[in-house]
Amino acid sequence: MGTLAYIAIGSNLVNPINQVLTAFNEIGMMPKTNLVKKSSCYSSPPLGYKDQPDFINAVVLIETELSPRELLFELQMIEHFHKRERSFPNAPRTIDLDILLYGDTRINSPELTIPHPRMHERAFVIFPLQEIDGNITIPLIGDIAKIAKELDPDIARRITL
Ligand code: ADP
Ligand code: MG
Repeated sequence: MGTLAYIAIGSNLVNPINQVLTAFNEIGMMPKTNLVKKSSCYSSPPLGYKDQPDFINAVVLIETELSPRELLFELQMIEHFHKRERSFPNAPRTIDLDILLYGDTRINSPELTIPHPRMHERAFVIFPLQEIDGNITIPLIGDIAKIAKELDPDIARRITL
């Protein structure tokens, strides 16, 4: 049995729903990894730089024997397949794949910070994460139900496909 990890997916360019659905499949095809559960898709307005399309977001639970750094590398390969370009912070993107949690591991380096440092402020991460597991406790932050209660439900709306 590998480690349970949660990945956040986001896209707001070139048919975002399709980008997210494709990413589900690609994540399931990563080496030494099984896709355990995926959330619904959520729609949310952009943060920071506003003059760009709304985002589609989702979260997946995987079980993996990849190390955290190997996992980051595999996710960056998938971003590369989607022609992700890094132009400026909060820029529009075809796909963004972030590691939220990796078991109860804590890592603190600029290349990899786990738990993801801003996850608890983001409705588009917390709502799909809560949909997958309503009983998660985020290390150092707290219970997901309590965190979710403090976020505006209108910011990330679940969409039915
Ligand atoms: P962001 O996700 O913050 O919008 P990027 O996707 O361009 O921006 O990521 C910038 C860098 O963040 C990546 O090169 C990666 O090394 C680093 N990073 C740090 N922690 C994580 C994490 N938990 N998941 C994914 N990337 C991370
Ligand atoms: Mg990222």
